[in-house]
Amino acid sequence: MNKYAFSREVPTYLEADVVVIGGGPAGTAAAITAARGGKKVALLEKSAQLGGMGTLANVSVFMPVGNVTGIYREIIAEMLAEYLPPDHDESIAPQYSPFLLRQYLNEKMKKENVQVFFHCEFVGSIVDDRRMKAAIVSTREGLKAFEADCFIDCTGDARVAIDAGVPYRAGREEDGLTQPMTLMFTMQDTGKPVKRILPEGCYEYNDVSDLPQGRRLYWERGGDGSLLVNMSRVKGNGAKIEDVNHAEMEALRQVYSIANYLQRTGFETYAISHIAPQTGVRETNQIEGLYTLTEQDVVGGARFPDVVAQTNYEIDIHSPDAQKTTDEREVSGYDIPYRCMVPADIDNLLVAGRAISATHVAMSSMRVQATCYALGQAAGAAAALSPGGAGALKDVPMAELHRVLETQDVRLYRQGASAV
Ligand SMILES: Cc1cc2nc3c(=O)[nH]c(=O)nc-3n(C[C@H](O)[C@H](O)[C@H](O)COP(=O)(O)OP(=O)(O)OC[C@H]3O[C@@H](n4cnc5c(N)ncnc54)[C@H](O)[C@@H]3O)c2cc1C
Repeated sequence: MNKYAFSREVPTYLEADVVVIGGGPAGTAAAITAARGGKKVALLEKSAQLGGMGTLANVSVFMPVGNVTGIYREIIAEMLAEYLPPDHDESIAPQYSPFLLRQYLNEKMKKENVQVFFHCEFVGSIVDDRRMKAAIVSTREGLKAFEADCFIDCTGDARVAIDAGVPYRAGREEDGLTQPMTLMFTMQDTGKPVKRILPEGCYEYNDVSDLPQGRRLYWERGGDGSLLVNMSRVKGNGAKIEDVNHAEMEALRQVYSIANYLQRTGFETYAISHIAPQTGVRETNQIEGLYTLTEQDVVGGARFPDVVAQTNYEIDIHSPDAQKTTDEREVSGYDIPYRCMVPADIDNLLVAGRAISATHVAMSSMRVQATCYALGQAAGAAAALSPGGAGALKDVPMAELHRVLETQDVRLYRQGASAV
């Protein structure tokens, strides 16, 4: 294999206090919270929209986590007030419009003084003596450097951390296989029988057992006749070139095939109204941080003094090896410690969202959006507390971090106490 040394002088486009890379649940929450801490924040997003899988992949449902808190609670209160639970400690699983969330997040960033840079894809980390100096970013004007005191990697794939040399692993311990990908789509009741199509390359599914997941999985929204469908499934790791190339084509075939099947089995009047712009990726890379969340922690309800997020979302593993099964196991609730976001060898970098240090089974539970918002919020608060200079994010005082989070309506239930 040929190799090329690639060397360029890249001009600095912006000097910020905190640069957040990736505008999904973790990234938006991190950016807002760092800005609330008085920092100049740049949020870099490679697509044209904020919300990550929640908008780009049309996820459109917030799974229940049992602690509706912090920025996640704010989003519900501001965007979906009818679902707002009276107490933090209550589960909700609202469906939402990904288009509305996209618009909401744009306005939210403006109000919170976060500078958003769309179509800005991180391509490289400049690291010197345990510190990241700059993110090299592919922009519409070519390569630019974004400098900061602190960086927060919210790419979902730990792309920044990996490039900075942080060790990582992917998928199941035994074979590295990750959860499969899914292309979400929506159908709409037209009120009259629709003409079915089965485009070239698609499949004729005749039985539930023929379906990619071996089950019917969708959400009917009462009142507006829409049907959100989560039924395609493509094996592979969404951080790999060949896997994602295959997935984008195969998942679309499945979408048309599933729609055709549904139109024959109960949804005769429904037409495809929207297909997500990209296939959703559940799992790719996990960093090796100062602590790795394990299945035992999740099952055993682990509690940590440096808790920054809490969830009781189930273990939820769509079969990584092309079986038509899903491993779902209820959990009673556990803590995620700050250390899961802290790489050992880079002092001014945190990783928030689904790519934190967690095993395959543990990440299947912590990966849902509300938890990623909570982790992002904690990372942003930590970055705002960082003294800069030679300070290390691993040394952020926990009592102070908890105090700041509390001022932002984060409620962390602790053993022997009702909240922090
Ligand atoms: C099909 C599917 C169904 C799901 N169902 C649910 C559900 O019902 N409820 C629920 O709560 N959760 C669900 N999830 C899980 C949840 O959506 C994700 O785990 C969550 O969005 C992860 O948040 P994140 O911020 O860590 O990363 P992501 O949401 O993946 O966001 C990462 C962001 O970083 C950007 N990015 C990536 N690389 C770069 C780069 N190099 N430079 C700049 N930007 C970059 C991406 O464009 C993206 O905007 C589902 C996920 C999938 C895929």
